[in-house]
Amino acid sequence: MSSYLIGIDVGGTKVFSELFDSSLKSVATDHRSSGFGSNQVSESIIASISTVLAKSGVESTSIDGIGIGIPGQVDSETGTVINAANLGIDSLDLGEVISHNFGLMPRLMNDVNATAVGLAKSHQPSESLVYLNFGTGLAAGILIDGQLLSGASSLAGEIGHISVDPNGAVCTCSQRGCLETMSSAAGIREFLASQGHRSESWRDFESLPNPVRSSVGGRFIEGMLKAINVIALSVDPDYLYLGGGTLDLIRKDNPDLIRIMMESKFGPSFLASSGVFDRVRFVENHSNIAAMGSVLSLDTKA
Ligand SMILES: [Zn+2]
Repeated sequence: MSSYLIGIDVGGTKVFSELFDSSLKSVATDHRSSGFGSNQVSESIIASISTVLAKSGVESTSIDGIGIGIPGQVDSETGTVINAANLGIDSLDLGEVISHNFGLMPRLMNDVNATAVGLAKSHQPSESLVYLNFGTGLAAGILIDGQLLSGASSLAGEIGHISVDPNGAVCTCSQRGCLETMSSAAGIREFLASQGHRSESWRDFESLPNPVRSSVGGRFIEGMLKAINVIALSVDPDYLYLGGGTLDLIRKDNPDLIRIMMESKFGPSFLASSGVFDRVRFVENHSNIAAMGSVLSLDTKA
């Protein structure tokens, strides 16, 4: 009997599922809104899995593994997610929910790490790789010698909470001036509110007058350069991937972003001379890569 795997990327606003055959060839996909709160997010994931099964005609009994990349603090052992603020989840036993519906315990991992693992598929294990994600928050997935760096308490890569300005805005972590307050959707929203621009959604900033938009962009790029500096000095990876929904938005206003970064007064000159910008790549199909990464991280190989 043929066996199949399902990879799922849960982002701040959407769920993407992909069903793969045993040679990791894509068989069916589904894209939908994630909803908000534990119940809606659970229902979206269940509906998405059911849809890729229905589209492909594959029975759930033929599924060997389900990998899920999701924001928040993830416990892969217990299948729980806590503090996924942008999804409205305080605590969710997602492993139990999926197991109850499909008879299979999924493997959960942080969505940024899932993307890093997916990106590593096209590299040799000897090549080090970092994925810097600029989404609702800011974090890095780090792979060295083919191994994901998690740390003793899964904090490795949470560089969005490095404070770079003691007088800066208060962050969700209660520190001031974290990188995340400059270069994430949450940071942009707070910054706009502090300037008197009410914004329900970070995407609203596209409709703002240009002087405001360019100051948001300048601040974002300054924070991004500081984040790249942290990665270059601590990991110095062979490849540095940049991606995420908030970065996509900034790139629309700044299409020549590499040149802008190289010429910025905030980029230390040694950063440019280290050649780090030659090793930068932009991630375009984030969801597909994260779904692949969550499948590659499964213990069960089809
Ligand atoms: Zn912080």
